[in-house]
Amino acid sequence: RAKREGRRTHRWFDADVDTVIQASRALEQDLRAAVADKALGVHYQPLVDCARDEIVGCEALVRWRHPVHGFISPAEFIPLAETIGLILDIGDYVLREACREATSWPEHVKVAVNLSPAQFHPNGNHLVDTVKMVLDETGLDPARLEVEITESILLKDTETNLATLARLRALGVRIAVDDFGTGYSSLTYLRVFSFDKLKIDKSFVQELGARPECRAIVAAITGLGSSLGITINAEGVETPVQLRHLRELGCDEVQGFLFGRPVPPERIRPILATGGPAFRLREAFAA
Ligand code: C2E
Ligand code: MG
Ligand code: MG
Ligand code: MG
Repeated sequence: RAKREGRRTHRWFDADVDTVIQASRALEQDLRAAVADKALGVHYQPLVDCARDEIVGCEALVRWRHPVHGFISPAEFIPLAETIGLILDIGDYVLREACREATSWPEHVKVAVNLSPAQFHPNGNHLVDTVKMVLDETGLDPARLEVEITESILLKDTETNLATLARLRALGVRIAVDDFGTGYSSLTYLRVFSFDKLKIDKSFVQELGARPECRAIVAAITGLGSSLGITINAEGVETPVQLRHLRELGCDEVQGFLFGRPVPPERIRPILATGGPAFRLREAFAA
């Protein structure tokens, strides 16, 4: 009996692995199709300047609505795209969409585009060429484009990737470090490259007010920002309490559901055109 059960367990296990493999192959194919059909979307989330109390930019965030499974998070399909060689196509697509979209916004509003470490390989030439081409094509002022990279690109091929960043910077593009504080080498590379912006990871922001350690860490980062002349952004701001801490600590820019969720282009345009839901920003700041 034990043997039979053992076998049954074994069969179940196999069936399970099979199902998972089949499902992930199907998902791969669906993602390839979505990329080929240009069926991915790009949503935009406001970046709010604390001192000016207004929207000074938007982050472009890729979206995939699967015909059967519905919305799938980029946190899930970007890593998949990286492993199956689709990330360059997706990266180019998002960059082009975002830059084109930004040309319809007020001129003081920047657009931030996330870059995958895979877009820097093998040497970043494709990336730099694409950025140059897209800026040319769309006519977007390079100073209005910000790229968001993660610390991980400086762990490997450091020299090559720093050279790529320098070439992007030379185009007039701004460079931000995303998810700051969650990587391995946070402080080291601040010596070797002068980034324009650090985005404090939302895991620190969300525990502001709940854990004193988080306030201390955020204080250290904003201190670093002001002495090095780097703009400090805080991501994932959801509550007035978090906002109050961030303002006290001298954070320059905030982003989060408190100010606006990522929305499709047709919904961000009226928000930017009217100066945004300014009353809501002011209310939030007053709290
Ligand atoms: P990220 O670049 O750090 O983007 C911020 C994420 O936080 C977004 O998730 C955004 O929707 C979410 N967020 C914003 N405000 C709040 C808030 O107040 N609370 C909470 N809980 N979350 C908030 P999203 O859109 O699911 O993207 C997840 C990650 O996927 C991004 O993290 C980025 O690493 C990656 N990603 C998204 N779009 C792209 C893209 O076009 N290219 C690449 N390479 N990666 C992308
Ligand atoms: Mg980002
Ligand atoms: Mg982030
Ligand atoms: Mg990220």
